[in-house]
Amino acid sequence: LNRRLAEFGTTIFAEMSALAVRTGSINLGQGFPDADGPEEVREAAVRALRDGRGNQYPPGPGIPELRAAVATHQERFYGHLGLSCDPDTEVLVTAGATEAIAASLLALLEPGDEVIALEPYYDSYAAGIALAGGRRVPVTLRADPESGSYRLDLDELRDAVTDHTRLILLNTPHNPTGTVLSREELAEIARLACERDLLVITDEVYEHLVFEGEHLPLASFPGMRERTVTIGSAGKTFSFTGWKVGWVTAPPELVGAVRSAKQFLTYVSAGPFQYAVAEALALPDSYFTALRDDLRAKRDILATGLAEAGFTVFRPSGTYFITTDIRPLGHDDGFAFCRALPERAGVVAIPNAVFYDHKDQGAPYVRFAFCKQESVLRDAADRLQKL
Ligand code: PMP
Ligand code: GLN
Repeated sequence: LNRRLAEFGTTIFAEMSALAVRTGSINLGQGFPDADGPEEVREAAVRALRDGRGNQYPPGPGIPELRAAVATHQERFYGHLGLSCDPDTEVLVTAGATEAIAASLLALLEPGDEVIALEPYYDSYAAGIALAGGRRVPVTLRADPESGSYRLDLDELRDAVTDHTRLILLNTPHNPTGTVLSREELAEIARLACERDLLVITDEVYEHLVFEGEHLPLASFPGMRERTVTIGSAGKTFSFTGWKVGWVTAPPELVGAVRSAKQFLTYVSAGPFQYAVAEALALPDSYFTALRDDLRAKRDILATGLAEAGFTVFRPSGTYFITTDIRPLGHDDGFAFCRALPERAGVVAIPNAVFYDHKDQGAPYVRFAFCKQESVLRDAADRLQKL
């Protein structure tokens, strides 16, 4: 393994899912739903396969039907904020958000460029920045147990920008903390990006999983449309994490740059699933509302169970993850805690320290996923009461 990747090894998600299988534990680690997405969308994939649509290389930027559906979806949900995009020049279909992130970083960074990311951050950010030869500059979201939430220190963010900063890599709703950045925070980030002439890659894969307030795309803020690469994914919104269909929306020049990188990573993404996701994006509003309401109820079940078991719970406003503090249980090392948890309680979780450069900052936090059947969440909550 070369020096760029040496520090990364195996992702925590693979490690913890293997541990769950090995120990027969309830897997609240890796974020994937235990119920597949809508039947009609699965049928759409089957129809595409059977009818010979997408069984050979689809077009590089993605099939026109999906690009049109992404543009229509953007207009439907964010048109009132002034957002729209041209399906032919401003949309790129990718192999999940993961490829969108990697391809964007590979396309937009010069070696040595600095990238500011909010710590704790999703693990592929650090690896993606490293692959592109960039330098990551973490700005730490601070846990505030009083309010049960995380705060972004805007002065810290401002101070992190140097003459070498090329871009900010943002994520809202935020994995793993469940933070949804506020209008004021986003406006300030937008102002900073414009002032310092920075690009922003914004990972909004949890855009439809917002339980309080609303999701505001960064691209809708003044001056941002032309400097923002927005990333979406069908994995979270439609509960098909195995399909690996994601997308980028950005102005033509930026989409073109990301496409240049993408074409030598995967060239194209699987064809039949693109047809199915095009149909999924056109599901009625009731689908999106039901998804959110269902996950909100699940959040509440798990949050209550975790609080009763003695964890300090950071109640997420979005995503399907709950971050907890394990110190009230008499522990302060999330890695050790998560490695022992299957044995102690038959549950698997993720130590948040993996999402930090400042490992000490993340040490006492542990993440649980709640995208599971209610009965599974109740079972997990019962098991955790033993701790
Ligand atoms: N970004 C974030 C914040 C995520 O949590 C995930 C994984 N769930 C991804 C990107 C990757 O998404 P995909 O599975 O579409 O590659
Ligand atoms: N994004 C999912 C999570 O945070 C997992 C994705 C993966 O396994 N790479 O749990």
